[in-house]
Amino acid sequence: LVRLSGVNKWYGELHVLQDIDLSIDRGEVVVVIGPSGSGKSTLCRTINRLEAIESGEITIDGQRLPEEGKELARLRADVGMVFQSFNLFAHKTILENVTLGPIKVRKQSKADAEKRARELLDRVGVGHQADKVPAQLSGGQQQRVAIARALAMDPKVMLFDEPTSALDPEMINEVLDVMTSLARDGMTMVVVTHEMGFARRAANRVVFMDAGRIVESAVPETFFTAPSSERAKDFLSKIL
Ligand code: ATP
Ligand code: MG
Repeated sequence: LVRLSGVNKWYGELHVLQDIDLSIDRGEVVVVIGPSGSGKSTLCRTINRLEAIESGEITIDGQRLPEEGKELARLRADVGMVFQSFNLFAHKTILENVTLGPIKVRKQSKADAEKRARELLDRVGVGHQADKVPAQLSGGQQQRVAIARALAMDPKVMLFDEPTSALDPEMINEVLDVMTSLARDGMTMVVVTHEMGFARRAANRVVFMDAGRIVESAVPETFFTAPSSERAKDFLSKIL
């Protein structure tokens, strides 16, 4: 469904993504881990072209991502993104936050968008908060709204960049539970996270990055019990 081949990206002198080849099947859940600065967030942002790349190719559902233009906007809408900071519109209600994209980009009627938004908000457990503004919700609730907002666009793939890193510990699981249920329902997902429990439970594959490269790619069982590279062993010894 998502394919990166020979992707290279520089920030000035810094070769931040080096010869990245990654292919993600429909329904696959890929957890990306690696040290700070290894390029995980950059990888996420290149998948929907929030960042340009210098060489290589990215296709989503067989369609090559163009550099810019209308076609890019359309393809980008197929990629849902959830960040560490929830990025909700502070002055809009929860319901409006979720319906805005579908109405503006997907050209849905207000009534259809609201019906779907309420279903999604119920699904992530915040249906009763629909008329509040983001500041009235806890961090965990806001992040679940952010997930509902991304899902409202009917994305083909969902990218999560450290979705629980900004949350208090007691709220982490409520967000991970929503993500686990999405994974079980067959959503194609790329998840950057330090939550190794989630990786073991929900990932089909763990990708380990270091210094801009994919150093290892394996099923969780293999990765956690018998990582093949020294760098992965070293990383795991520090976090587990
Ligand atoms: P973390 O675990 O800390 O989130 P990461 O693996 O997500 O790290 P990236 O954010 O992708 O790492 O950054 C990779 C490298 O690129 C880092 O060295 C970072 O300083 C650099 N970098 C990121 N964004 C930019 C930018 N806009 N301009 C210049 N350098 C950048
Ligand atoms: Mg990052």
